[in-house]
Amino acid sequence: MHKLARLDHAHVWHPFTQMRDWLQREPIVITAGEGAVLRDVRGREYLDANSSIWTNLHGHNHPTLNAALKRQLGKIAHSSALGFANEPASVLAAELVKLVNPKRSASSPRRLHKVFFSDDGSTAMEVALKLAYEFTRRARGPKAKTRFLSLAGAYHGDTVGAVSLGHIELFHKAYSGLLFKTDQVMSPYCYRCPFNKAKPERADAREYRKCNWECVGKVEAKCATACKRGNDYAAFVFEPLMQGAAGMIPQPDGWLKRVTDIARGHGALLVADEVMTGFGRTGTVFASHAEGVQPDFLALAKGLTGGYLPMAATLTTQRVFDAFLGEYAEFKTFFHGHSYTGNQLGAAVALASHDLLTGKASIAMRMRLEEDLRRELKSLWSLRNVGDVRQVGLVAGVELVRNWRTREPFAIGARAGIRVCEAMAQRGVLTRPIGNVVVLMPPYCTTAAQLRRMVGALYEAVEEVLGSAASARSNDRRASGSSKLVH
Ligand code: PMP
Repeated sequence: MHKLARLDHAHVWHPFTQMRDWLQREPIVITAGEGAVLRDVRGREYLDANSSIWTNLHGHNHPTLNAALKRQLGKIAHSSALGFANEPASVLAAELVKLVNPKRSASSPRRLHKVFFSDDGSTAMEVALKLAYEFTRRARGPKAKTRFLSLAGAYHGDTVGAVSLGHIELFHKAYSGLLFKTDQVMSPYCYRCPFNKAKPERADAREYRKCNWECVGKVEAKCATACKRGNDYAAFVFEPLMQGAAGMIPQPDGWLKRVTDIARGHGALLVADEVMTGFGRTGTVFASHAEGVQPDFLALAKGLTGGYLPMAATLTTQRVFDAFLGEYAEFKTFFHGHSYTGNQLGAAVALASHDLLTGKASIAMRMRLEEDLRRELKSLWSLRNVGDVRQVGLVAGVELVRNWRTREPFAIGARAGIRVCEAMAQRGVLTRPIGNVVVLMPPYCTTAAQLRRMVGALYEAVEEVLGSAASARSNDRRASGSSKLVH
């Protein structure tokens, strides 16, 4: 075993990892990267098929980002935002405000005008949660109900507040005693629609009924019942267009606009978690823009720095900001902050990343990659153990099932997703599953040939691990692809 792998085994505790399994094999030790390629300590090369857990945008070792970092490093790496302003954070805040308000005039009350920096997706959500809570109490009075509504299967991070907003049983159960109560409402998981309205497996089947937005009705009913009981929600929390850690679950076109209108109509603030969807992943720069939804809070992290450094931002309106203004001794201050808030290296590289993101070359690259992905993914439909292939923009989730006809899932203990990803790693492609869903989220610089290798590795891995020979029934599969309904 390489000496770095030995050190890792001796001392490092890895996130979301059963360490007994981890200790049974030599880990891949990454030492370098370039573009979509990662290199390990033994000189082997891999494709980074999940953008290093959804963070990297433009590729590794990008000359423009490296130069921006070095320039900033020549000045200063960090000074505290507690007491001082700094150059890159101030410029970045102004840039973010421009980027998230494409069509809003400076005077619109919905304009996201203020930026609170923090460190990662969880802290960005924690900030949104605390601000929404306190703002509601100030607006409605200290006795106001401050309950939150979020989506079934939601994941918003690992800090206690963020976990409370989430509804993944596995994570919730362990900490239930620590968490505060939030409500959940059905999310539009079309593939497993409980109203049996998902698209059928056979193109000529008649067994499904027309979708009447039953899932939207659930949101309406939840909000209306809460209001009737005098329990109005402080905020509705959601990931727009696609729920990530829930299993890459896309929302049918129009769902987002409908449910956010309903929540807002019942007095709830809107908290958009674009930690995964932001910065071009879903096609538009921000997923909320695709349906013209303007939240009251917007959480950003992961891609904010192009995947270089941990940095996050929570944006909100002037109205929320003003509620925290007062005489010093009134203590209306937002009592929250972190040591590295507004870090200069992070802000400098984020600015360079935004320049790339909004440039013509990156836009063209993303459009090409989205089409390449759509084309390559089609091959997976022929596999017996592929139940659903879901794509939104540059993000794909491939749901593995025991039987594609019945959609029977693998038991989580069978580790189908993990085993398939291990077999992909053997083929030089790295990604991580969410349960039985294999994620593909390539960096924007991924070439057509690299993408073909990523999808090809997934195809072969499914065949090898699950014995999923390509079926002659491929003509039966839904011609239009994903189970996501189009009305
Ligand atoms: N929100 C969403 C939608 C996420 O996908 C994640 C992480 N996968 C988080 C929040 C938490 O982000 P972090 O891991 O940076 O704390």
